[in-house]
Amino acid sequence: MMKSIAIVGAGIAGAVCASQLATLGHAVIVFDKGRGPGGRMSSRRTDSGHRFDHGATRIDVTQPALQELFDPAVAAGVLRRVDDAYTSPTGLHALCKWLLDGLPAQYATKIIRLERTASWNAFDEKSQSHGPFDVVVLAVPPVNAAEAVVEQNTELASTIASVRMQPRWVVMLAFSEPLNRVPDQSIVNGHTVRRSTSNPVGDALVIEASQYWSIQHIEMAANAVGKLLTELCLPVLGSATPISIAAHRWRFALADNPLGRPFLTDQYGLFVCGDWCLGHSIESAWLSAVAVVGSIGRA
Ligand SMILES: Cc1cc2nc3c(=O)[nH]c(=O)nc-3n(C[C@H](O)[C@H](O)[C@H](O)COP(=O)(O)OP(=O)(O)OC[C@H]3O[C@@H](n4cnc5c(N)ncnc54)[C@H](O)[C@@H]3O)c2cc1C
Repeated sequence: MMKSIAIVGAGIAGAVCASQLATLGHAVIVFDKGRGPGGRMSSRRTDSGHRFDHGATRIDVTQPALQELFDPAVAAGVLRRVDDAYTSPTGLHALCKWLLDGLPAQYATKIIRLERTASWNAFDEKSQSHGPFDVVVLAVPPVNAAEAVVEQNTELASTIASVRMQPRWVVMLAFSEPLNRVPDQSIVNGHTVRRSTSNPVGDALVIEASQYWSIQHIEMAANAVGKLLTELCLPVLGSATPISIAAHRWRFALADNPLGRPFLTDQYGLFVCGDWCLGHSIESAWLSAVAVVGSIGRA
C-alpha cells in the first residue's frame, strides 16, 4: 500500500531514502533545515567565485556491491570514478541534488518535534504542523533526532543520544592565482591541507583541523580559528597570501561510537538513520538508508 512518508534531512541518507522510496511507489516529502540538499557533503561558494568542498570530498567504497549504486550517477556526470573512490566535478552535494531531483522538498524547515495520534505530524521551529504521514524517517545527526523524538519516545531518544558526535573545524582559503607548488593534499602539524577540486577559479585550499585540535578549540570564534589554523599551516602555504579566509565549525562531524546497527525504529512507522548508525562515512550513511528502504518496502 502506498504510504505518505516524511523524510527529515536532505543529506545523503535522506536523499537515498527519498529517491528509493519514491521509486517504490510511496509519496515522499523531504524537509531540511538548510538552504539546500547535501548536509555534510555541502560546498560553499564565495563572492569571488571560489568553491570549497568544506565537508566530504570523496566516497570510498569498501563493498563492491555499492559500486553498482553509484554507476548511474557516474553515467549522469554527477560523480566521477577515481580508482576505488568517487568524487564530483561540482562538489558531492550534487549527488544529493541529483537523487532528489523532481521530488517535493521543503528547505529552511527545522523539524523539532514529532507527534503521533492516528498518524504522524511533524512540527517545525515556527510551530507549523506538517502531515499527516504514515511514516517518518529521521535522517539527521543523533542530537537532532533525539530532540525530535524525546517527547514521543524517551527510550528511543536516549538510545539515539548515546551516540556522540565529534566536532571538526575547517578553514577555507581563497587565492587569486593557482598555487603550483602546493600539493593536492598534505598533513601539517596534524591538520590536513587539501585542494578543493571542484573550485573553478584561482586556487582554493581547505584546512581540516585534527580532531584533537577541533575539540580543544570548539568554542573559539570563527575568525580567530581561521587566523590560527592558517598560521599553523604556513609551512605548506609558503609566501602565498589568501584573498579570503573563512572558518566553518562542524559541531557534529563524525560519530565517535557508532550505534552498530543500520537504523532504529519503533513499531509505529518511525525510522531513524544516518552515517552514525554504522560508522562515519558516506558509505555508512548510504547503507543505513538502504536498510530503512528495505524495511519499509514497496507500496
Ligand atoms: C569535514 C568533513 C569531512 C568529511 N569527509 C568525508 C569523506 O571524504 N568521505 C566520506 O565518506 N565521509 C566524509 N565525511 C563524513 C560524511 O560527510 C558523512 O558521513 C555523511 O555526509 C553523512 O550523511 P547523512 O545523510 O547521514 O547526514 P548529514 O549529511 O549530516 O545530513 C543530515 C541533514 O539533516 C539536516 N537536519 C538536521 N537536523 C534537522 C532537523 N531537525 N530538521 C530538518 N533538517 C535537519 C541537516 O541540515 C543535513 O542536511 C566528512 C565529514 C566532515 C564533517
